[in-house]
Amino acid sequence: MRLRLIRHATLLLEYNGQRFLIDPMLDNAGARPAIQNSPNPRKNPLVELPIPAADVVREVSAVLVTHTHSDHWDATAAERLPKTIPLFGQPEDEAKFRSQGFSDVRSVHESTDWNGITIARTGGQHGKGEIGKAMAPVSGFVLSAKGEPTLYVAGDTIWCEEVDGALTEHHPAVIVVNAGAAQFLEGGPITMSADDVIQTCRKALRSQIVAVHMESINHCLLTRDDLAFQLEAARLTGKVSIPQDGEWVELCPAA
Ligand SMILES: [Zn+2]
Repeated sequence: MRLRLIRHATLLLEYNGQRFLIDPMLDNAGARPAIQNSPNPRKNPLVELPIPAADVVREVSAVLVTHTHSDHWDATAAERLPKTIPLFGQPEDEAKFRSQGFSDVRSVHESTDWNGITIARTGGQHGKGEIGKAMAPVSGFVLSAKGEPTLYVAGDTIWCEEVDGALTEHHPAVIVVNAGAAQFLEGGPITMSADDVIQTCRKALRSQIVAVHMESINHCLLTRDDLAFQLEAARLTGKVSIPQDGEWVELCPAA
């Protein structure tokens, strides 16, 4: 397994001989307006891709989309990807993918097998209370294969029962969490805050955590430096990788 952060939640994953593109957001910087009713109103994405979009999609064998908010699936991704590529996602997004011309849409209800890889869907809460309901549905995915470390991509969720349950059920070696503590003008964070990342670490003591989803979208207020600072205070620095855009994640030997 090899894992590379492209930008925000967009990841390239080499797993069991396949190359997955996860949550592709490939728009140029400033292509979209700021998120409505959010702090720090600046056009999105805030930063450019670290490599050209054409290189991101090159030789990708499948795409995995946790949900279709524009910071996880945008117009450029829909345009650049081959329409026949296997596209895994949550059932609620199938109609959208088909309407965009994708012919090999594979909705994951509970789990599915593909080329020796089991892809299981997990739940999450994209915020608390009314905001969380309005932002739903969101999913995460757990990938497992013989001879590969189990990988849990939690998706856009705060620390919640569903994440706790996924950790108990799947015992992932590597966990990708979407941090950034994204928020609107009212209500609490809708993605993980530093405290949520810390909770995840404390629950998953044997796992390597990879924190992404920072510094690319205007309403993600938690920066990499803020997160690193709070992890240090909690004595968890070594447990969490915070990759820069374009960086391959160094996986711990245990993974
Ligand atoms: Zn997001």
